[in-house]
Amino acid sequence: MINIGAQISPNSPSSHYHQTTTEDSLRRALAAKQSTIDASGTAIRQLKSSGAPKSEIDEAVKALNALKLEKTSIENQLKASISGQTINGSGISRDEFRQAVVNTLERRLFYIPAFKIYRGVAGLYDYGPPGCAVKSNVLAFWRQHFVLEEDMLEVDCPCVTPEVVLKASGHVEKFTDLMVKDEKTGNCYRADHLLKDFCKDKLESDLTMSADKAAEFKHVLAVLDDLSGEQLGAKIKEYGIVAPDTKNPLSDPYPFNLMFQTQIGPSGASTGYMRPETAQGIFVNFRDLYYYNGNKLPFAAAQIGQAFRNEISPRQGLLRVREFTLAEIEHFVDPDDKSHPKYSEVSDLEFLMFPRDEQMSGQSAKKLCLGEAVSKGIVNNQTLAYFIGRVYQFLTRLGIDKKRLRFRQHLPNEMAHYAADCWDAEIESSYGWIECVGIADRSAYDLRAHTDKSGVALVAQEKFAEPIEVEKLVIAPVKKELGLAFKGSQKMVVEALEAMNEKEAMDIKAALETKGEVEFEVCTLQKTVTIKKNMVTIAKEIKKEHQRVFTPSVIEPSFGIGRIIYCLYEHCFYMRPSKAGDEQLNVFRFPSLVAPIKCTVFPLVQNQKYEEVAKQISRSLTAAGISNKKDITGTSIGKRYARTDELGVPYAVTVDSTSSVTIRERDSKDQIRVKVDEVAAVIKDVSEERCKWADILQKYPLHTSASADE
Ligand code: AMP
Repeated sequence: MINIGAQISPNSPSSHYHQTTTEDSLRRALAAKQSTIDASGTAIRQLKSSGAPKSEIDEAVKALNALKLEKTSIENQLKASISGQTINGSGISRDEFRQAVVNTLERRLFYIPAFKIYRGVAGLYDYGPPGCAVKSNVLAFWRQHFVLEEDMLEVDCPCVTPEVVLKASGHVEKFTDLMVKDEKTGNCYRADHLLKDFCKDKLESDLTMSADKAAEFKHVLAVLDDLSGEQLGAKIKEYGIVAPDTKNPLSDPYPFNLMFQTQIGPSGASTGYMRPETAQGIFVNFRDLYYYNGNKLPFAAAQIGQAFRNEISPRQGLLRVREFTLAEIEHFVDPDDKSHPKYSEVSDLEFLMFPRDEQMSGQSAKKLCLGEAVSKGIVNNQTLAYFIGRVYQFLTRLGIDKKRLRFRQHLPNEMAHYAADCWDAEIESSYGWIECVGIADRSAYDLRAHTDKSGVALVAQEKFAEPIEVEKLVIAPVKKELGLAFKGSQKMVVEALEAMNEKEAMDIKAALETKGEVEFEVCTLQKTVTIKKNMVTIAKEIKKEHQRVFTPSVIEPSFGIGRIIYCLYEHCFYMRPSKAGDEQLNVFRFPSLVAPIKCTVFPLVQNQKYEEVAKQISRSLTAAGISNKKDITGTSIGKRYARTDELGVPYAVTVDSTSSVTIRERDSKDQIRVKVDEVAAVIKDVSEERCKWADILQKYPLHTSASADE
């Protein structure tokens, strides 16, 4: 258990929080400037009271004003350093940027608050047409990248899950978040969110805070996920945090189960839950899947489906919702051999990693080579590392910015006790760093839990080429003698004898041989009984074994598809001035792979001949499997381009003659001229990334006419 008080103490010798980050040095500079200002204020008062000449006083006041200006400048830098961080150095604040993205997404129906005409429900959203297309593209690529390329077994299990399954997995007892209640109104809040908001708000608004105090708040933020209920409660009390809406006092934190409960069937006798994750469906099918895979390890099963979590106070738009799509992989592997045959394909990758030691010591994520992280023991094993590498490739291929993607290792308390190692792929958005994929080595926990509850052995076997001889301890209680001696308690004594480990058994054997009897403690009877020589035989025998039976470990990458998509929206969004320079136009720079529509087709002017050509091109694109949309509205060409840019459509075909047309690329706005019957092939090649736009530019004449431009 982590002792928070000791870790954040500024005097702790092990504390690393005195690193002079920009923010820290600005805080110090501000404090120093304030004391200089105070001192010069005092000096001016003294000059005045001592009747100093006016010119001298004026000079001192001028110097004081200059100091105040310097102070304002430091304050502004500090504000920018803490909260005003701009997106990609664009000069736009995070809030303004988010507002622009969200407005475009809602206006273009990428998503819609669900049940909007009834004022909606927090944490529930619909995807509109472009949102559905993006999601389906992301899932198609997920299937390609993982299910097909890694030869996984895909399953599709029900959302409604009987209680026994989720009791076995531990969700009924432990799938909770810590909640606090407004003591007067009963309003509920997530305890860690309140503490997080408090610390962030203090850091952003209290510019005069000492660097040490700032380091303390930052450390609380860094270890937030690691805090127990008691530690959270203690911090909430220490900082005097109250209910944000009413300022009323708050209760102590207590666990709230996030699962939606339901009844299966009309009688009410069978309790069920909407699944909070898809993984359990895979675990309970392990035996059949293992058989399907020819009783061979390793293998992975995968599932895409809805998950339901009754979040305490959903916020952050699409990032924390109550129903969402998960894509999960359960990779089953021999616990004694977690090497991966394709490890060398990812071991040279380098990207931002954030190991737990760096987090605990207040550092930031650094670029690390994956292979090195494994050889240094930072990442527990090759298979876990392999999936980290594959997740990195998946996310960056979708269009996630490498500089805003990091892999963060779980802190000790954040990780379940049975887990060997866990890493989250976190993506930076205007909301900060967001966990989008969890990659965990869960050891044998899940299969063991379902074996215990169901009585069905979820195990694997390793058949030996040659049987091997092993020395085995054989404990054989003589039931007749034990029955006579212990009557009703005989069963408990037999079980206790059989449960002895090797050392206990050999000690008892030795005592029986020398003394003929021995005192033996039976825990379940809570007493000691006398065992005589005729009541048990203990021996070591050589036995032949043909196989090894074991419970596989599972490595689980779990993808929150909605979170990935939202972050992708932010990473792909940018604004550029219109040609006239009078407005900002929004663009989604989606790679073709995820773009909701690959191509729009429109006649330059409303004209039957051009419309016919547009229809013909659209048909040829559809036949080639390229999603496309015709726009035959009479609006100006510039407006139509702006519309397709807002949907992130990479290519636009403009029909301005019946023999050849122009193709415009979204980001460069370059246009080429192509014969009508070649259009589909060109768009197919470039949108399926068989060639680059730069290659196409070499082959086709650039179209420079201003007529088709904005
Ligand atoms: P977990 O099982 O809690 O590790 O969650 C697996 C993944 O699901 C996370 O990495 C998130 O991407 C996603 N996720 C979890 N909770 C939510 C939520 N309330 N809304 C949207 N996505 C979520």
